[in-house]
Amino acid sequence: METIQLVVFGSGGVGKSALTIQFVQGLFIDFYDPTIEDCFRRALQVDEQPCLLEIIDTAGTEQFTALYDMYMKRGQGFLLVYSVTSKNSFDELAERREQILHVKGAADERDVPIVLVGNKIDIDYEREVTTDEGRKLANEWRCPFLETSAKIAHNVDEAFYTLVREVRRT
Ligand code: GDP
Ligand code: MG
Repeated sequence: METIQLVVFGSGGVGKSALTIQFVQGLFIDFYDPTIEDCFRRALQVDEQPCLLEIIDTAGTEQFTALYDMYMKRGQGFLLVYSVTSKNSFDELAERREQILHVKGAADERDVPIVLVGNKIDIDYEREVTTDEGRKLANEWRCPFLETSAKIAHNVDEAFYTLVREVRRT
């Protein structure tokens, strides 16, 4: 079976672990130790083709930079997650993407499978990033964009499926 390694990046607290666990285990974890960096596995079919996904849920502290480098080298697809309730988390993704493109030495940005994800849309009243702003950034980056909620399991499968399709496309 085809094994695909995916990496989830984003600022602390945006819901990387919640999204990963919702996808892999089908449940919402209210609290997950923010310092834990772990690898999750799920076998599934995307477009009738089976694959084994290995998902690295990063923990986002500066001291892990050497690890980041390794994840970027090994990773085949990247979920770049921000929280729609944090403009800061949105702004911070640009640097992460630059690093990925740099490590991959990609001549064309379309060669690096990336999906932009705006999480926590269930708390709309705390929104700091509009859907339009997310869409605009994704257009600029020429990558797919989805808004999700790990809490109410909205678009979570779709986000990972979209990333698998991007990996297969390149
Ligand atoms: P990480 O640091 O990116 O791994 O973030 P976590 O997955 O640990 O989530 C940080 C906090 O946000 C936790 O309290 C989660 O319960 C909460 N959270 C994560 N995803 C969502 C979501 O979609 N909606 C809401 N309301 N809270 C969320
Ligand atoms: Mg986490």
